[in-house]
Amino acid sequence: MKALVLSESLAAARARLAEALRAAGRPVAGARLLAVSKTKPAGLIREAWQLGQRDFGENYVQEALDKQAELADLDDIVWHFIGPLQSNKTRAVAEHFAWVHSLDREKLAQRLNDQRPAGLGPLDVCLQVNISEEPSKSGVLLAELPALAEAVLAMPALRLRGLMAIPAPAEDREAQRAPFARLREALAALQERFPDAPLDTLSMGMTADLEAAVLEGATLVRLGTAIFGERAARQ
Ligand SMILES: *Cc1c(COP(=O)(O)O)cnc(C)c1O
Repeated sequence: MKALVLSESLAAARARLAEALRAAGRPVAGARLLAVSKTKPAGLIREAWQLGQRDFGENYVQEALDKQAELADLDDIVWHFIGPLQSNKTRAVAEHFAWVHSLDREKLAQRLNDQRPAGLGPLDVCLQVNISEEPSKSGVLLAELPALAEAVLAMPALRLRGLMAIPAPAEDREAQRAPFARLREALAALQERFPDAPLDTLSMGMTADLEAAVLEGATLVRLGTAIFGERAARQ
């Protein structure tokens, strides 16, 4: 396996995003890169930060807290929680992250709202949608999305920024685009229904399907493998 040279893989990921935006006829600043650093060491995150990367996504609370402690000197780093959210972890998430992308239940939203320290300002949240309607997968169903959005919009310590999805894998570009298009339409419907809400984010697109997501309007793409290389199986 080729050794990872982070400066090269990060530059390649940025170029790939820029090209996808260009091909979609969108402005180069139309989507931000979220570097998904789960299972990767703090040293690699520091290196990416030194190369100008600011937004990082983590999936496992304890692992993230350990790395955050090691990187406490990077004061403008922005931590996004993108993993499955459990009620016994909401306090740590509310206290140590700027964003949560995986919110899918009102009960968890209420806990995050109640546990968000006042001094930090509102927690930016995306609602995770089970866009391919896969049984036993995380995410709210589209039919239940408006009610959840309405509940979250009433919570002062949460700022509802948009929607996130991880579609079922699909091989070709057209098949990849369909669920992303549904997510885009769902966000548009929420924007129409709640015109005063700060809904500006479509968190979609990973290493395998970034181009399809950008074609459908992604504003935050979550790249792990493309930046940090393959992940070893988690212990
Ligand atoms: C791991 C992960 C990613 C990154 O996936 P890659 O295929 O490595 O780019 C993005 N989003 C979520 C929610 C993840 O868990």
